[in-house]
Amino acid sequence: MSDAQNPEPELGEAIAEMGAETLYWCMQCGLCTGGCPWRLTDGDINKEFNARKLQHQGQLGLEGYESDNNLFACTTCGLCVARCPRDVNAIDNIRSIRMMLAEGGTVPQSYRPIVGSLTDNGNPWMETRDKRTAWIKDLDVPTYTEDTEYLLYVCCTSCYDARSQKIARAVATLLNKAGVSWGIIGEEESCCGESIRKIGQEELFTTLAEGNIELFKSKGVKKIITTSPHCLYTFANEYPELGGEFEVQHYTQLLAALIRDGKLKMDKDLDLTVAFHDPCYLGRHCDIYQDPREVLAALPGTRVMEMTRNRESSICCGGGGGRVWMETPPGERFGDLRVNDALAHDASVLVTTCPYCTIMMEASVLGLDKDEEIAVKDVAELLVDALA
Ligand code: SF4
Ligand code: SF4
Repeated sequence: MSDAQNPEPELGEAIAEMGAETLYWCMQCGLCTGGCPWRLTDGDINKEFNARKLQHQGQLGLEGYESDNNLFACTTCGLCVARCPRDVNAIDNIRSIRMMLAEGGTVPQSYRPIVGSLTDNGNPWMETRDKRTAWIKDLDVPTYTEDTEYLLYVCCTSCYDARSQKIARAVATLLNKAGVSWGIIGEEESCCGESIRKIGQEELFTTLAEGNIELFKSKGVKKIITTSPHCLYTFANEYPELGGEFEVQHYTQLLAALIRDGKLKMDKDLDLTVAFHDPCYLGRHCDIYQDPREVLAALPGTRVMEMTRNRESSICCGGGGGRVWMETPPGERFGDLRVNDALAHDASVLVTTCPYCTIMMEASVLGLDKDEEIAVKDVAELLVDALA
């Protein structure tokens, strides 16, 4: 692009250098905008948020940039990246624009306490470090030592959020039942940093990630199991650049292998119809589609429905890219779409494998007043229900 076309060439180039390497590949075809889940909602964000326009504004050094609704609406779901004919990584581009604004001091009000809590306590839940293991309660949870095979890294959401703690407890119960060598580190850990990086807080991400890498190395960690696909993504794809090379898997990958090897068996007939929601960060971002389905197939008396928008075409719960910390008005929530998709398949349980998805979709069930028709559960919770 020439300087004549670009009124702020230095700013556009600076955004590109911050990680928006494909910013100038965009030819403004608009396929990203057309395929974005915001087009499926009816409200102000749908009217304001336009992925194609953001790429253009980035190229122009943010000329014409107007509102936070436009920039912080993106949930980093990856649908547009999968569909772009020019291989533009709109997520990296939007993240870099957010980074530039954050460096200039622009942080949306709702993110400020999150940034403060992560800086002070290493978690986004405004809680102290000593409560990081509050999810354990009366469970038998081993401490990680050099003789342990797997570190179970519990996502901050499942450490602190009361609903999500049940997911961590279910995963721990299953690991114990299958006789896996596992343990936790606990209070010394910090947030993986995935979502805070997506809102442009690069320095904070690096601090959190480097702290975890040093901690994991000091404990002799080689293999990690994550409870969240977001932690999986960042450990597998972003930590290696900072010197953190670990063998990482999502808990559904390990459970699928344990079931295959006959080490985990569910005997109780659940007599349920469930619909499976592919989390963006497990599916599109980490290419894991089969393992959770294999795990669900091992549940006795359970009919698993494939929703119309599934696998690579799954739509977001609305919680990625930092949106889990932002209020989305009723009627504009992606979770509402997923709940209605599941109800259309006569499912009584909408099942998923990500703490963000559980929170967002459960909020939609309540918001839609459908809690007598459908529940939201994590795969691990269903497995525990089916243990004899
Ligand atoms: S990012 Fe890709 S899909 Fe979107 S307008 Fe640009 S070229 Fe088209
Ligand atoms: S990543 Fe998802 S929410 Fe963000 S612009 Fe692309 S399709 Fe829309």
